[in-house]
Amino acid sequence: MEFNKRVAIVDAFMAVILVALIFVIANGQKDYSKPVVKNMITVVVDAGHGGFDGGAKGTDTGVIESGLNLEVANKLRSALEKEGFLVIMTREDENAIGSDKSADMKKRKEIINGENVDYVISIHMNKFSDRAVSGPMAFYQQGSIEGEKLAVAVINGICESVDRPKRIANPGDYYMIRESPAVSVLVECGFLSNSTDEKLLQDSEYQDKIVTGIVNGFKEYLGKG
Ligand SMILES: [Zn+2]
Repeated sequence: MEFNKRVAIVDAFMAVILVALIFVIANGQKDYSKPVVKNMITVVVDAGHGGFDGGAKGTDTGVIESGLNLEVANKLRSALEKEGFLVIMTREDENAIGSDKSADMKKRKEIINGENVDYVISIHMNKFSDRAVSGPMAFYQQGSIEGEKLAVAVINGICESVDRPKRIANPGDYYMIRESPAVSVLVECGFLSNSTDEKLLQDSEYQDKIVTGIVNGFKEYLGKG
């Protein structure tokens, strides 16, 4: 074999080795442990109470808070998923997720402390001794600047959607927003102690409006509104 031909063959062989080596290194650096969905914003939707813990009770109709929370939470899940968010539910049926209140809350805490959780939206219905008090409220963990921004955006979104005068967001100290490392808001959709609210909160169209308001507020907070 001519010397030049031999050099060309060795060169070609080396080139193949080099390409193979680069391929192996490049693939070795890929991190397969992270799921593709990591790029998505993950929201925990918490339907408050459940099972043995019914929460508040409607004064006129006796409707149980936990069931209404689940209806609104399920609608919120669909709406958020339609917007491209990844949703994790704390519960998907009527049951509590623990055998007693403390076990249930501990499980919820585990969920909101999950690795990829970015936001928490907890859904509740309110009750108060003064039956004249009505309307939605949004609570943030006292001292959480981002939580407050989110709660302000959410209550603005809801009030606009249900056509009510604007309301302030309120600081609170509730388990689900206190124990959450992610930015969190607790939404009290209305008062089961107020006759008008109690009727509205059981109305599917009104629930839709609440959900639209929450999603609009959330997107506004994210700068996507
Ligand atoms: Zn509640």
